[in-house]
Amino acid sequence: MSTATEQRTFDSLNPATGAVVGTHPVQDAGAVRAAVAEAGSAAEWWAGLGWSERRRRLLDYKAVITQNIARVAGVVHEETGKPKADATLEVILAITHIDWAARNARRVLGPRRISPGMVGANLAATLEYLPLGVVGVIGPWNYPVFTPMGSIAYALAAGNAVVFKPSELTPGVGVLLAELFAEAVPERPVFRTVTGLGETGAALAGDPGVKKIAFTGSTATAKRVMAACAENLTPLVAECGGKDALIVDADADVAAAADAALWGAMSNAGQTCVGVERVYVVDAVYDAFMRELTERARTLRAGEDYGPITMPAQIDVIRRHIGEAVAGGKAVLGGPESVREPYVDPVIVEDVPEDSPAVREETFGPTVTVRRVADAEEALEKANATAYGLAGTIFSGNRRRAVELARRMRSGMTAINSVISFASVPALPFGGLGDSGFGRIHGADGLREFARPKAVSRQRFALPGMNLTSFARGQAELDRVVKLVTFLHGRRKR
Ligand code: NDP
Repeated sequence: MSTATEQRTFDSLNPATGAVVGTHPVQDAGAVRAAVAEAGSAAEWWAGLGWSERRRRLLDYKAVITQNIARVAGVVHEETGKPKADATLEVILAITHIDWAARNARRVLGPRRISPGMVGANLAATLEYLPLGVVGVIGPWNYPVFTPMGSIAYALAAGNAVVFKPSELTPGVGVLLAELFAEAVPERPVFRTVTGLGETGAALAGDPGVKKIAFTGSTATAKRVMAACAENLTPLVAECGGKDALIVDADADVAAAADAALWGAMSNAGQTCVGVERVYVVDAVYDAFMRELTERARTLRAGEDYGPITMPAQIDVIRRHIGEAVAGGKAVLGGPESVREPYVDPVIVEDVPEDSPAVREETFGPTVTVRRVADAEEALEKANATAYGLAGTIFSGNRRRAVELARRMRSGMTAINSVISFASVPALPFGGLGDSGFGRIHGADGLREFARPKAVSRQRFALPGMNLTSFARGQAELDRVVKLVTFLHGRRKR
């Protein structure tokens, strides 16, 4: 970081080469306040446009990003180090979410009539979901397009303006996303990016003009953000880390399970919040699974199949977890020597004690622990024994059994016979519980997350002899209501 005479700046670096990718201003609390204030008036304009005008502009934004896929993926590749193909897929996934949010906002949030019920028979009841105003989005570096777009697109579609603080490791991606929005929507700064370090994010979370914070990052930072939000009672959606498990049942397609486990654990160098960090395999297929997994893993190359560790400080966590895993368990592939900064080769360790930090804490590297279990019940019990609760995977040959296990998995999302597939379905809500956070992005729940329900009841006519909300009410009116309620609700079913 450099301190210029007037404006502090910081560099974003290519984690593979150390080359400077870009230099960005460190925006302080004053700059954040100004950005939020401008976004506040843009929010009014945006909300006033109505559903179809907003939809048209959001679909234009989608088209502009689509026309610039290579450019966006290029910056993602440079700032995170991930292969260009992976960066391209990430952008494509984000495009499908912008499309879904734009096309479904009115259906999910627009005004609708609600049945007033028998007692309210003389009322017309309506419900709609109004925008909040300015939404602050604080994003991570591991999927710097897909992840924040899960908040940005849905918040915009719900009629809000957005001020986005990207991770200091991927500011160029954040700046580009806002620039492309301005191409599609040049009228007002409805979506803008502020750059800086943690303190810039803290300023955004603590700004009274921000009506909701959508945070994605680590659990520890989420707690700090929540404390900053508490000052103004600003609501928060927190998408934090995970320690997701993959379960392989006795009747599973073992080759498919191994293929999925490997990709889930190692793609993006394991820097995926919903990546596979633990695998529990039923005894009957354990040996076959391990053969398939290690054979496939041996062909993987860090630096070719996946990129470097994006955040240098994470290397220490990965190194520590590998050390602890190998000390308590048995290395099947790789080990401490697999860490070749900034790259980490695939590491597979089996029989790591369940209380080891390598099994309990998020590693965020291309490593996986595998354990033999007696049956799927034991697998589920172990999978659920975590403070996190983000996602997970079940491989099983029995559809009913798989669905039953998935429902009992303590997580926000579970994929069956595929890995991370829920993220590619825009209509499915995404988010966790416990240390993985709360609230949802994506889908109808994700739209509602960025809106406030507005309920209206309109009396259409006075019910004769039933004026209950008046001091003029008599005993006879009350008796009539008690009779009606007894008729409607007074019978027991058994
Ligand atoms: P961090 O928690 O370090 O940072 C997340 C964001 O918060 C960054 O933009 C960071 O800015 C900012 N920030 C840091 N300090 C503060 C503060 N005091 N107040 C406000 N904002 C602050 O997470 P990472 O960027 O390291 O991301 C990795 C984590 O994110 C992993 O734990 C991963 O599991 C999780 N994640 C969760 C996802 C989900 O949807 N559940 C998806 C993707 C990742 P700066 O970078 O400038 O410090």
